[in-house]
Amino acid sequence: MVFLNGVFILKNKASIPVMDRGFLFGDGIYEVIPSYQGKLFYLDTHLKRLQRSLDAVQIPNPYTNNKWLEILEQLLGYSQSTNQSLYLQITRGADTQRKHSFKKLNPTVYIESNQFIVKNKSLLEKGFSVITQADIRWSRCDIKATSLLANIMYIQNAKEARVEEVILHRNNIITEGATSNVFMIKDNTLYTHPADTHILSGITRDLVLESAITCHLKIDKSGFTKNKLLNADEVWISSSTREIMPITKIDNCTVNDGKVGHYWECVYNYYQQLKND
Ligand code: PLP
Repeated sequence: MVFLNGVFILKNKASIPVMDRGFLFGDGIYEVIPSYQGKLFYLDTHLKRLQRSLDAVQIPNPYTNNKWLEILEQLLGYSQSTNQSLYLQITRGADTQRKHSFKKLNPTVYIESNQFIVKNKSLLEKGFSVITQADIRWSRCDIKATSLLANIMYIQNAKEARVEEVILHRNNIITEGATSNVFMIKDNTLYTHPADTHILSGITRDLVLESAITCHLKIDKSGFTKNKLLNADEVWISSSTREIMPITKIDNCTVNDGKVGHYWECVYNYYQQLKND
């Protein structure tokens, strides 16, 4: 079952008009919200980011937060599995002609819910490999837009290279992953890129930063170079569906002799606790 423009419908029965600007231009915004054991995780924060993205591209928010909650909970009610990832997208809607400029339209709202497999700790402790590439995306990566061509190409490259993610660098500074935020640890300090227009400020990123006090880490959000990344004590990527993953190989270099570090374990435990609260 999926949600499309006010109705719950079977996925193979759901369709949109060809004039939808989401189809023609990728003119839309999305969110991915995890749900653990039927409970939406940090929904308010996701809805706040959704509003921010919609405002940035002048698409009106069709629902109040209470209405979003009601729809998402109803959709969750149709799924069998305990952990779900809800994909929600709002496009500007369908016009009569294909032209770049827009007028007031009825936004198209689509939501689907899929089973969400959380990797267990022993699997995560094996560590993951990534590759690095130049960040060729536009300069408003802070907007969670459905137009994701560059990200698609990166993830295809990752698949072909049999690695977990592509870590991006712009002018030699690490920005983020193609579908995640990036952190590194050096000498008890947690480094990440500032939450400016070159990254999507992740909900998980904020929780990782929040864990720093508990894990006795100092924070530096001024960014870091690729060279620093390759010489880090620990490297992690974070996202709502991956949670916090330790990276032990970057291109052909090992991080911390290929071992997952103890700060990762602290942040991992902190995050698991939040899920149980
Ligand atoms: N950066 C990018 C480019 C992403 O696509 C994502 C998630 O999909 C993130 C960061 C992490 O965001 P969040 O932690 O809110 O899932």
